[in-house]
Amino acid sequence: MNSYDVAVIGSGPGGYVAAIRAAQLGFKTAIIEKQSLGGTCLNIGCIPSKALLDSSHHFHDAKTHFKEHGIEIDEPKVNFAQMIARKQGVVEQTVAGIKFLMDKNKIDLYEGTGSFKDATHITITAADASTQEIEAKYTIVATGSVSSELPFAPCDGKRIITSTEALSLEEVPNHLIVIGGGVIGLELGSVYLRLGAQVSVVEFADRIIPGMDGALSKELTKVLKKQGMKFYTSTKVTAVENTGDQVTLKAEDKKGEEIVLEGDYALVAVGRRAYTGSLGLENVGIEVDERGRIKTNEHLQTNIPNIYAIGDVVAGAMLAHKAEEEGVLVAEQLAGQKPHINYNLIPGVVYTWPEVAGVGKTEEQLKEEGVDYKVGTFPFRALGRARASMDLDGFAKILADKNTDEILGFHVIGARAADLIAEGVTAMEFRASAEDLTRMSHAHPTFAEAIKEAALAATDNRPIHA
Ligand code: FAD
Ligand code: NAD
Repeated sequence: MNSYDVAVIGSGPGGYVAAIRAAQLGFKTAIIEKQSLGGTCLNIGCIPSKALLDSSHHFHDAKTHFKEHGIEIDEPKVNFAQMIARKQGVVEQTVAGIKFLMDKNKIDLYEGTGSFKDATHITITAADASTQEIEAKYTIVATGSVSSELPFAPCDGKRIITSTEALSLEEVPNHLIVIGGGVIGLELGSVYLRLGAQVSVVEFADRIIPGMDGALSKELTKVLKKQGMKFYTSTKVTAVENTGDQVTLKAEDKKGEEIVLEGDYALVAVGRRAYTGSLGLENVGIEVDERGRIKTNEHLQTNIPNIYAIGDVVAGAMLAHKAEEEGVLVAEQLAGQKPHINYNLIPGVVYTWPEVAGVGKTEEQLKEEGVDYKVGTFPFRALGRARASMDLDGFAKILADKNTDEILGFHVIGARAADLIAEGVTAMEFRASAEDLTRMSHAHPTFAEAIKEAALAATDNRPIHA
């Protein structure tokens, strides 16, 4: 039987990063994966969704912006099969990159389902049902999450689908009904909207992206409506039925009136839930919480001292970069180091266009916590760079403590917000004041100038270009 210092179950961004860091620190490391290296993120999540977002963005630009830029082309057409094939190519290259990293770091890969026999032994069952056992001093569980479903309308993979099927459709729908106006719903809804589908989003809350700063949600609603997306907020889905070639959704709005939508597909994007199936948690007595997430302490240690858990399978934001940070943290702890994660500074991004990104507190949270704060905003429309590229929508918004000027929240909706958010994370990690940002040179002309101007607005309302 092979023995390891560290075994990692699950090779998503949490698991494979934990394995690499453990190997870098000199641990003999194994990783166990039942499907494909890279987990949800690389295979059916972050990477394929961004590949389709980028392709559909190019198409949409060609249709709506090229003429004004002075580029004359015949009416562009979608070759959807090629778009899906390119997406799959990106996934395969990225997965191959992880295999390379496993080999380079001398991490042993076991293909199969890992299940605890006891606290130090894991049984691995391969696809052909053959089994083998390994011994591990420490185990890191990184088994991720799966799509949540509506109890009254289970996904059939044909007409009632999850993000997984939505990333590999064979046709652009005429009408895509999206249940859930969160990250997945808006990203994949944007893909198909840009490719010509009618897209209707049914959201239970009174606004889309309800976890993000309210001003960003309002602006995104406005811009996506302008692009043609339809929204039914404060609306409760009551039934979804596959009628063969179509799907029928029934819902109730806040006045209690019935809404009936007919579409080709209903994409269920109402969140994800932790996945622990076939891990054999009961064999070791690992505890889970009321939502099925593995319970851990602040060191990500389970109630069994040599077993840790990270990423989507534990509490917290279900984000790839959060899982990665946790993987590094556990490996470094095992090596005797004292790492720390500032969970308040895990940024959240929605890859619509314009992109939406936030870190730190939202204005709603500051109000609720009774914090004395000030706000500085700056519109992208006033940036030379935004006019040059025709990306005028959006703004940067900085929330700072009224007394100390420390930045408490950093929110951007606009072109390249996903990249701009890194400035907010850096500033806040170093506990910068809004004035600190105003005193740093921001290259001209860039979208990042909106950050400096919003900081100027927050400092004492003195933006230069507004
Ligand atoms: P996962 O990536 O889910 O990996 C878990 C792995 O464990 C899987 O490969 C699974 O097969 C394996 N496994 C499970 N049980 C066993 C077992 N018993 N034995 C062996 N292997 C097992 N996040 C972002 O930050 N940015 C994005 O842009 C983004 N886009 C997304 C788009 C979509 C459509 C979806 C669905 C998610 C997206 N996410 C995004 C979320 C992100 O994918 C997850 O937060 C991230 O993958 C979690 O990583 P993880 O390592 O915890 O688990
Ligand atoms: P989400 O939590 O972002 O959004 C779910 C939405 O569905 C919420 O707005 C919620 O109010 C709504 N909802 C819940 N039940 C409903 C119902 N019965 N009817 C109508 N609306 C309902 O979840 P998601 O979009 O499914 O994404 C899952 C996870 O994957 C998220 O935690 C997210 O962090 C992660 N993810 C991240 C990215 C990214 O970082 N860009 C992209 C995709 C997914």
